[in-house]
Amino acid sequence: MASVSFSNVQKSYGKTQIIERLGFEIADGEFVVLVGPSGCGKSTLLRMLAGLEDITGGEIRIDGRVVNELESKDRDIAMVFQSYALYPHMTVGENMGFSLRLRNAEKSVTEQRVADAAKILNLDQLLGRYPRELSGGQRQRVAMGRAIVRDPKVFLFDEPLSNLDAKLRVAMRAEIKALHQRLKTTTVYVTHDQIEAMTMADRIVVMHDGAVEQIGTPLELYDRPDNLFVAQFIGSPAMNVLEGVARRVEGRWRVEAQGALWPAPAGTAATEGQPVHYGVRPGDITLADAARGVPARVIVVEPTGAETELLVEVGQAKLTLAVHGRVDAKPDQTVGLVIDSECVHLFDRQRGKRMA
Ligand code: ADP
Repeated sequence: MASVSFSNVQKSYGKTQIIERLGFEIADGEFVVLVGPSGCGKSTLLRMLAGLEDITGGEIRIDGRVVNELESKDRDIAMVFQSYALYPHMTVGENMGFSLRLRNAEKSVTEQRVADAAKILNLDQLLGRYPRELSGGQRQRVAMGRAIVRDPKVFLFDEPLSNLDAKLRVAMRAEIKALHQRLKTTTVYVTHDQIEAMTMADRIVVMHDGAVEQIGTPLELYDRPDNLFVAQFIGSPAMNVLEGVARRVEGRWRVEAQGALWPAPAGTAATEGQPVHYGVRPGDITLADAARGVPARVIVVEPTGAETELLVEVGQAKLTLAVHGRVDAKPDQTVGLVIDSECVHLFDRQRGKRMA
């Protein structure tokens, strides 16, 4: 078990800077997810931690020790990749024990560790099988087993579920989380999928263009995104965002957008006429009859059983609503959108920063 720290870490390929002076700490036993759109530098950061990429500047520490110059095999980490790369000619048991055999561990130790890992991962009945005789999920578990037998200080996962179908992804997500709860090994997990990040992480690091946008627990990021990027990246369906201007109307703040006045939080620190981004999550809009709230035209109604998603139009803007249960709204009908002002997120339009 170990802490991990990044301080002033930089990465360039030739003259192109990929990661710009980035720093944060991961506590011992924490499950941290690096998330961001493709190309934001999350795999590069993980690979630098793993010792698979040089570090251009700054320091990376594992368990307090600077590892910049340390070879990958000496960092006491185990990595699980998107492609499991199991050896096809080895059985499950041989695959899992391979790294220990490579290190000349005693046979009895290897066997015991493989047996323990197999039990944790429900692979004990499959130790004699070959990879071709396994399902995708079982192969992924063998890849995890290979990492577990090494009993590393830190687990690193690089998009490990991307090759699985949707249903299996959900199941494996829960398995990895349960595994962490059991082993409590410090884990750094890279994904582009914000739902994976939300459901698995103790803390999430949101990255964009080689920089950290925000670090926090899943619900901190959801409830109080620091900026427009995080607001639109975290949450599904994504937050609705309108361009508007702040208006003081009868002693209250409102935002004027798309020809309507929208409610804003009571303590908003805005100036009259200030350009803002007005953000409201699909679940924070209530559907009412046309006489109440902001008038909107229904475009599409999508029932999913427990929830109904609606696409509506206000002026030129389209908004998504997620309503619990069923609604009897029809396309082209005019409805009212009622928004609790305290659920609204305001960002200044100049810098995209959250407004107090
Ligand atoms: P992510 O994992 O977030 O999708 P990566 O860390 O793989 O992003 O890549 C970050 C950026 O670094 C991308 O713009 C990518 O094109 C660039 N990059 C990655 N590897 C190399 C390389 N070997 N040479 C040059 N540029 C690279």
